[in-house]
Amino acid sequence: MRTKIKILDCHPDVIQKIIMDLKQPSFRGKQLCSWLFEKAVTDPDLMINIPKDLRVLFKEKLDLSLPELVEKRVCEDGSVKFLNGEGIESVLIKAGRRNTLCLSTQAGCKFGCAFCASSKAGFDRNLSTGEIISQVVYGLREVLPEKLNNIVYMGIGEPFDNFENTVNSIEIISSDKAFRIGQRKITVSTCGVVPGILKFADLNKQYELSVSLHCANNIKRNKIMPVINKRYPLSKLMEACKYFFDKTRRYITFEYIVIKGFNDGIKDIKDLIDLLKGFSCKINLIPFNSAIGTAFEVPEKEKVLEVGKQLKNAGMNVTVRWSKGADADAACGQLRYLRKAGKIKD
Ligand code: SF4
Repeated sequence: MRTKIKILDCHPDVIQKIIMDLKQPSFRGKQLCSWLFEKAVTDPDLMINIPKDLRVLFKEKLDLSLPELVEKRVCEDGSVKFLNGEGIESVLIKAGRRNTLCLSTQAGCKFGCAFCASSKAGFDRNLSTGEIISQVVYGLREVLPEKLNNIVYMGIGEPFDNFENTVNSIEIISSDKAFRIGQRKITVSTCGVVPGILKFADLNKQYELSVSLHCANNIKRNKIMPVINKRYPLSKLMEACKYFFDKTRRYITFEYIVIKGFNDGIKDIKDLIDLLKGFSCKINLIPFNSAIGTAFEVPEKEKVLEVGKQLKNAGMNVTVRWSKGADADAACGQLRYLRKAGKIKD
């Protein structure tokens, strides 16, 4: 038996070619893309402007299925967390009229950052392009007739450890034949995979880059991000960041999780200022959000504001991101971790 073509793995240009190979006129490809990427419809029976015999052919030749959704949680603040049976998590964050979707690129993570629940349940595998796109389809279904405004690759996994599928998915998301989300509305967050940053820069696109920094000296960073910082210490990371900026002229956002008593002291903030001073960038402070399985403490709000003030006074471009979705275990990797640990049942 011939295997079906997994259509969510495909860029719209490839879908167009598949339709031509099925001896169909090209507008049928546009109709199929419109159902999938504008209306988030994946069931051929619902594609009512496509003739019935062609819908039957689609079912024979194409795999249009989505991974099964096994968990959907809605938080008090309106954020929605999705988990499917293969351990794929995404979070929809609603802020006023802006809908931001946070995507995962791997089931689990190899990098073992000490503050993060994502690697506590181990690493299973890279997600395929279609599995990343399926998260967008579920997110879009949730917001229609509104739009998805921003896409952030900040869910489970390290996007640059699954570079090809991450970039393939971005090309579909930003394509004007698919989800039509502008390049500057798509942010990829890395823990500091230097070859990935360099390759991402060489794409010469307008995508946003965010770097999880969290500590500005190697001794402390080795403690909380041991895998990545031993492989690519801060000097190498900053070289790559400068290359990215020179190539794209896009400001990088450096994420800094404020952990009580660990990286919020005067010396820690001075190290941060010294590291980033003169570099065109933004700093995003994120108060630590009590991830399950970690020993770190949540900082007081006043402390986070004080850190922000210190950075501002030093001329840094700084914002604070207060957590959303905490009541649905929405910190990165928590739903998957809870399910694996048997703390959530079907
Ligand atoms: S912070 Fe990112 S790289 Fe580190 S363990 Fe979590 S998902 Fe992996």
